[in-house]
Amino acid sequence: MQGKMQGLAMKKIGEIGWVEKDIPSIGPQDALVKSIAIAPCTSDVHTVWEGAVGERHDLILGHEAVGEVVEVGNLVKTLKPGDRVIVPAITPDWGSDAAQRGFSSQSGTPLGGWKFSNDKDGSFGEYFTVNEADFNLAILPENISPADGVMLTDMWSTGFMGAENGRIPLGGTVAVLGIGAVGLSAILGAKLQGAGRIFAVGTRPVSVKVAKEYGATNIISYKDGSTSEQIIEATGGEGVDTVIVAGGGPDILVDAVNSARAGSVISNINYFGQGETLPIPRVGWGFGMADKDIHTGLCPGGRTRMERLADLVTYGRGDPSKLITHKFEGIEHIEEALLLMKDKPRDLIKPIVIIDD
Ligand code: NAD
Ligand code: ZN
Repeated sequence: MQGKMQGLAMKKIGEIGWVEKDIPSIGPQDALVKSIAIAPCTSDVHTVWEGAVGERHDLILGHEAVGEVVEVGNLVKTLKPGDRVIVPAITPDWGSDAAQRGFSSQSGTPLGGWKFSNDKDGSFGEYFTVNEADFNLAILPENISPADGVMLTDMWSTGFMGAENGRIPLGGTVAVLGIGAVGLSAILGAKLQGAGRIFAVGTRPVSVKVAKEYGATNIISYKDGSTSEQIIEATGGEGVDTVIVAGGGPDILVDAVNSARAGSVISNINYFGQGETLPIPRVGWGFGMADKDIHTGLCPGGRTRMERLADLVTYGRGDPSKLITHKFEGIEHIEEALLLMKDKPRDLIKPIVIIDD
């Protein structure tokens, strides 16, 4: 398809603006997709305003989308124009060494599965391309709205990974530090993984409400004193089996390690936007010998992952719409939605922009 399109781009570190580009062309395994529902991510904020992954010029932002296939390459077998698809934030190269070893999000290069709004134009444009479309796009089931579908692409996939990587024992105790959309999804993930007690650490009333609905049993405010001291006290001096880190700056790792017991996993899903090194508390980490594992991960992508997350919705295991607090209609509102994500008003969890429902 030929022609021009508009998109909201990172002009340079600290600056966003609209750009006009050619509608991108596709390779034999790719699909050209039209954005129909999109959401900004806190990661876009780290990328633009903290310059977390370095300078980018006129790169169209956005990596959370449901779209409509408008064109497919001649090797694509399972998709056709008109299909409505869930587009994962992460679209791995499935033949890569890392993918074959089971780490598809790191395909090609570290974080290499993260292509949209990192090393190629993303979903804040009218059209974007998807590599290896057969393996990276899932059909949006009829029973899931485009807005809800967008919540699966990154928020659920990342939050649930936080719980999956956390090796949660059945009935185990979990603490989730940070309860934006990612941490809330981690709470639901922890519940689905069989956690017993779940501490949600956060303050925004809108998030606290969803935290309880998603399965949190205890709420802790990090503004009422040290998180780890509160968790240690509430667990009778023991600490928790799994800590999922889903917000905050570098010092949150100190709280995470200090909240964890022997044999625990600190499962980090947070994106640290600044600084050369990150702090680990020497004593809390047993001088390096505490039997506390630190696990990191980038959101899982790909078709099967999205289909499984969609099944969790279809079979009543969770409701992604609870994350959506602000709804806009029309592509021109993307900028407003992204700025909301940057400014984080207290009533915000996640904004969504519907372009064509
Ligand atoms: P968010 O900003 O909405 O939520 C984080 C919350 O943590 C905020 O409410 C903030 O007030 C709170 N917080 C700050 N300091 C805290 C502290 N000391 N203790 C507890 N809470 C504290 O962000 P989000 O959209 O939920 O995303 C969370 C993080 O996950 C971001 O860094 C984002 O970039 C990252 N992310 C990572 C992946 C991945 O693949 N690993 C994917 C998507 C997002
Ligand atoms: Zn994201």
